[in-house]
Amino acid sequence: MAGTTNAFEMAQRQFDHVAELLKLDPQVREILRWPLREYAFRIPVRMDDGSIRVFQGFRVQHNDARGPNKGGIRFHPAETLDTVRALGTWMTWKCAVVDIPLGGGKGGVIVDPATLSTGEKERLVRGWVQVMWKNIGPRQDVPAPDVGTTPQMMGWMMDEYSKLSGQYTPGVITGKPLGGGGSQGRTEATGFGVIYTVREAMKHLKLDPKKCTAAIQGFGNVAQYAAIGFTEQLGGKVVCVSCWDRNDKTSYTFYKADGIDPRFLMSITDQYGTIDKEKARAAGYSIEDGGEWIKKDVDVLIPAALEGQVNAETAPLISKNVKIIAEGANGPTTPEADEIIKAKGIFLVPDFLCNAGGVTVSYFEGVQNDMNFYWTKDEVLEKLDTKMTSAFAAVLEMSEKEKVFMRDAAYMVAIARVVKAMELRGWI
Ligand code: GLU
Repeated sequence: MAGTTNAFEMAQRQFDHVAELLKLDPQVREILRWPLREYAFRIPVRMDDGSIRVFQGFRVQHNDARGPNKGGIRFHPAETLDTVRALGTWMTWKCAVVDIPLGGGKGGVIVDPATLSTGEKERLVRGWVQVMWKNIGPRQDVPAPDVGTTPQMMGWMMDEYSKLSGQYTPGVITGKPLGGGGSQGRTEATGFGVIYTVREAMKHLKLDPKKCTAAIQGFGNVAQYAAIGFTEQLGGKVVCVSCWDRNDKTSYTFYKADGIDPRFLMSITDQYGTIDKEKARAAGYSIEDGGEWIKKDVDVLIPAALEGQVNAETAPLISKNVKIIAEGANGPTTPEADEIIKAKGIFLVPDFLCNAGGVTVSYFEGVQNDMNFYWTKDEVLEKLDTKMTSAFAAVLEMSEKEKVFMRDAAYMVAIARVVKAMELRGWI
């Protein structure tokens, strides 16, 4: 892959660029360029065959000026301290841009969860909490799901923390299952949030959503609900999604010119996001190379997989008719690709604005846990829409006022809020 591929280097470059535009004090930059705290640890787990396997775990707490650190735990074979640092840094900006009183953090384990049995997964996540429990908590750092982790795992982690601390503490973690302290709407939140920002972008560009088409990269939690939102809420057409096929160890694009049916595709997708090719083919989908999604002649591109996917090599393949890129993933676009997107005149909804719906409903989940009183799904989604819409408006206003790219505008809004909290607390 050409250009910057290290995610943390990308996060620092993006920050440095905006710090320069803002003429931010060098001492303040020094605080914000790096996570405040980092934990790297080993988790020994008893496997089903009786052997012990040792896993590498991480938790990074980037900044907690605005409130407890917040962010998911990712289980991925390619996880590194740098990917966790990058994702933790982006969480600080994400919580600030949607104006929820939380800081940023992220966790990870180097593992392919599909290779573990249910019992091994449970022992691994409980092991993670046994190492970290003194450094997390509802007023310290609140983990959540991300790629490779599930609501059930969050339930086990909450249970482990509650046992160790001797108190039922649902607010220690979010993304828990419904009936186990979870919030209505949390599963849909990130994907629907992406679509609320796409709707606002379409209003701004005066596009009729019903006439718009989209291509989506990925078919995990974010992509699935973005596809549902795009078709069912906006009335648009999604022509393809892509997915990582864990059996073939490669990715494919599932294309249907007259529009994919996201609920059908979900019904033939396993829990790790691999779509059943035979069943898809039988239903009239053409199965193409995983890289094809980005070349489609659509109005909206939604990268909703992993970081670094829109880069110096792939960005030139984007059709001249694409009008909006909505970043469902964290860090999908490299700084080199940003320049190509700007040159093509595409409107960008940057990642930590676009995909902030998940953490916003996580925040609502924590509020409901504290109150011990739970809202309906409609109430949650309405509150989510209000938050996403006003965050979009604040970033668009900044972009127009300062005549900057939407990513830079989102950084400007977020950095100003974090810096203000640091000032008010006397850190700077
Ligand atoms: N992992 C999600 C994200 O990247 C959600 C984080 C959370 O809910 O704390 O935004």
